[in-house]
Amino acid sequence: MAEYDGIIIGAGHNSLILQAYLGRAGLKTLCIERRQVAGGGLSTVEDPRHPGFLHNTHAFFQRAITTMPWYADLELERHGARYIEPELNVALLTRDGRALEWWTDIERTVTSFAEFSRRDAETLQRWQHEFVPIVRDILVPEGRSVPVAPEERRAKLKRSAAGRRLLEVSALSPLEFVHQEFEHPAVKAGLLFFNGLREVDLRVKGFGHHIAALLASSAKAQMSRGGSAALARALEAAVRESGGEIRLMIEPTRILVENGRAIGVETAEGELIRARQFVASSLNPRQTFVDLLDQALVPREIRAQVECFQYNLLAPLFALHLNLTEPPRYAAASDRPELAKAFMVIMGLDHVDQFLDIVRHHEAGTVPPTVMWGACPTLFDPSQAPPGRHTAFMWEKLPYRLNGDPANWDAARDEHGKGMLRLWQEHAPNLADAVIDSFTRSPLDVERELPNMREGDLLVGAFTNDQVGFHRPFRGAGAYRTHIPQLYLCGSSSHPGGNITGLPGYNAAQVILSDLGVR
Ligand SMILES: Cc1cc2nc3c(=O)[nH]c(=O)nc-3n(C[C@H](O)[C@H](O)[C@H](O)COP(=O)(O)OP(=O)(O)OC[C@H]3O[C@@H](n4cnc5c(N)ncnc54)[C@H](O)[C@@H]3O)c2cc1C
Repeated sequence: MAEYDGIIIGAGHNSLILQAYLGRAGLKTLCIERRQVAGGGLSTVEDPRHPGFLHNTHAFFQRAITTMPWYADLELERHGARYIEPELNVALLTRDGRALEWWTDIERTVTSFAEFSRRDAETLQRWQHEFVPIVRDILVPEGRSVPVAPEERRAKLKRSAAGRRLLEVSALSPLEFVHQEFEHPAVKAGLLFFNGLREVDLRVKGFGHHIAALLASSAKAQMSRGGSAALARALEAAVRESGGEIRLMIEPTRILVENGRAIGVETAEGELIRARQFVASSLNPRQTFVDLLDQALVPREIRAQVECFQYNLLAPLFALHLNLTEPPRYAAASDRPELAKAFMVIMGLDHVDQFLDIVRHHEAGTVPPTVMWGACPTLFDPSQAPPGRHTAFMWEKLPYRLNGDPANWDAARDEHGKGMLRLWQEHAPNLADAVIDSFTRSPLDVERELPNMREGDLLVGAFTNDQVGFHRPFRGAGAYRTHIPQLYLCGSSSHPGGNITGLPGYNAAQVILSDLGVR
């Protein structure tokens, strides 16, 4: 029987980060992955019909990757990773031909806000100024450590002025915060949209600080040169250099438990692989606690919590990908030449009230008027298309259960993509002649490819008050340990949650190494 110090299930970026740290600490580990390729949401595929056109089918905009502790610790640039952070980071194109712009330089962002509302520009500056130390000294460190119980956190925050301010602002919902502080409907919509992209439910109290944190954060959207998968390849190289093994196209059927401890996995082929010290799962709670564990070993309360685990209503994405002869040329760029180099472009969003409409459509399983955002990666990295050619994509938040059933997506997909292209052409008329080919991907396609993203939830679990921090995924289960000794969690269902942050894997590494008494 093959034997390792530890086995990690699923080879997304969180698992690979965990594995690389453990390898550097001298542990012999194996990561098992059901797909033909490691990296999970870090996926770049070549269009099979058009060689050389690369598409990032999952994560693309990656926030502040180069500032993450694991990026430096694991020496990912030595392993080939490179990041690009375009200066005009986000542009919201309104129907009346204007653009709300977010720059890496805050002064330029303030100038853009002032074109919509001078008061809003001043408010932006005020919040940015006040929240910089809160982000730096409280929120960033919290994301990079094992969460403490809410009462303990509250008591600690109350001891400092910055902490008290954070508690006060977070008592609001993002919607309340924006309505209370800002006046212009497009500014409000823009702020909520950026926040909504992080998938926080804008109506829920407890998350009011997210907008202020967004204003103050120096963490801007970045992209990986060579495609998002290039980060996965760098992580794999770091894993292999530290002695870790990754086996692809293997699906576990059972986590083995002996004398109450996790001691290995059984695969679909019937192979038993033994783990001397730990098993870590990056999968969702249902996969870990229901599909892979003998139910006699899962207490009733935990099964009930798995049943109640909520996936994000607003996270599922629909994608339209284009192969192009030239990049989209936005009409608004005739007055604003800087838009030719805008990174994330948002269209269809003019008014803050559209949010509640989008939420209603998601609840009903119907399609709201299109609000979409995306990029033309080849403007910044020509290696993602053949010479002189381009790729571009747009995403839209759409319900997983289309008209009550996710299977409806297969018939509706292409028609919906045509509607998105029409809106895109209204803003970028040259697309009428520039499209070589296109394809779409629905929320159902996401779940088919990455089943841990149940219901197409790319965060692998909603951000609600009882599923964040110390309570993610369950009440009191935020420390990456499970009720079974030697069985750990390390994926996006754990603190601080989904997206490419690598922090669930980073934090899980600290916990496992500490439990094993390894520095
Ligand atoms: C369309 C889309 C767009 C996105 N855009 C962004 C973005 O712009 N920025 C951003 O930061 N994030 C984005 N995300 C979210 C991001 O991709 C995820 O939150 C992130 O990949 C989660 O990382 P992870 O390591 O926890 O899990 P994953 O990346 O999901 O990796 C989990 C791995 O486990 C494997 N697995 C699943 N089930 C099993 C099983 N039973 N046995 C073995 N292996 C299994 C999967 O194949 C996968 O390789 C996007 C996601 C999607 C779908």
